[in-house]
Amino acid sequence: MTTAQSSSPKAKDLLAWYDRHRRRLPWRALPGQTPDPYAVWLSEIMLQQTTVTAVKPYFERFLSRWPTVEALAAAELDDVLTEWAGLGYYARARNLHACAKVVTDKHDGIFPSAEGALLALPGIGAYTAAAITAIAFGHKAVVVDGNVERVMARLHAVEEPLPKAKLSLKALAADLTLDHRPGDYAQAVMDLGATVCTPKSPSCVLCPWQKPCRARRLGIAAELPRKMPKKKKPTRRGVCFWLTRSDGAILLRRRPEKGLLGGMMEIPSTPWRDDEWVADEANTHAPVTVARAKWRSLDGLVTHTFTHFHLELGVKAAPVTDKRAGAVGAEQDFVWAHLDAMGDQALPSVMRKVVKHALKVGY
Ligand code: SF4
Repeated sequence: MTTAQSSSPKAKDLLAWYDRHRRRLPWRALPGQTPDPYAVWLSEIMLQQTTVTAVKPYFERFLSRWPTVEALAAAELDDVLTEWAGLGYYARARNLHACAKVVTDKHDGIFPSAEGALLALPGIGAYTAAAITAIAFGHKAVVVDGNVERVMARLHAVEEPLPKAKLSLKALAADLTLDHRPGDYAQAVMDLGATVCTPKSPSCVLCPWQKPCRARRLGIAAELPRKMPKKKKPTRRGVCFWLTRSDGAILLRRRPEKGLLGGMMEIPSTPWRDDEWVADEANTHAPVTVARAKWRSLDGLVTHTFTHFHLELGVKAAPVTDKRAGAVGAEQDFVWAHLDAMGDQALPSVMRKVVKHALKVGY
């Protein structure tokens, strides 16, 4: 591919760089310390699809409220979902709780160290099992996340786009992984990807692998890894119903256990679909019929983007008499909540936006 030959990348060069430049992260053991598998697992679950900066305060809150896996297993799921609110991908929080229970009940509160046994636990996929094996237990495992894929693609000038290139990038990562300090090596590649070999403008002059890096020599580092064009996300639409009781409490509903935002709380709404909602049709999904509450549409829309679709929510608001409020509250899955106690509810980000919008529009 190039005329200029150079050495192949060496794990030891990266480890030497890591010893000087490692990031200090709340879940990471300092040199000489023994990693805590619970902290490693908790951080790895939180870091899936989320940034280090976003995760730090959540990690610290979880660890101070539930300092051990047994404590987390004994927690109410609702409390876990409430603490998780804002991190997104709520199935992860449910699996986190389920996993804590399995580790407590079936493994005496001790995380298994074998990759295969970790993979059998709820919410632990191939990446997380490898990361825990290497980082928490110091066993050799090939840890491949987005950072590692980017570094491997550049180091070896892999032009095949993702996701097709995943297998070959994993094979390249495996070639470089040693028995020596596997946990540090895994974290070193992640750190290199996060701080030096960054997506848009890699700082090659600071890189311990600049000599063997083929993409740098070819001048195509910032273009790699190539990616298949993304499919356009569809937009779905819904209407939320902001119902207020005379004491200011707001009606919430628990979403079904299965499916998107399973078990989280929401402002009751129509189903979410591609077509726009016309008023009469939307009103048939209201928690109180138009005959019993005067629904009026609030200005503006609440927008939110999930992994697979954009969502646009209109909001309708109405007051309800105490007598009727009692009847609504008695129904299954509905809960009245005061605004100053909304923080105790497991409201996902999209529903927090709805609350903010309804308050801002000044109902
Ligand atoms: Fe990334 Fe540049 Fe290092 Fe290559 S030399 S691995 S492109 S930072």
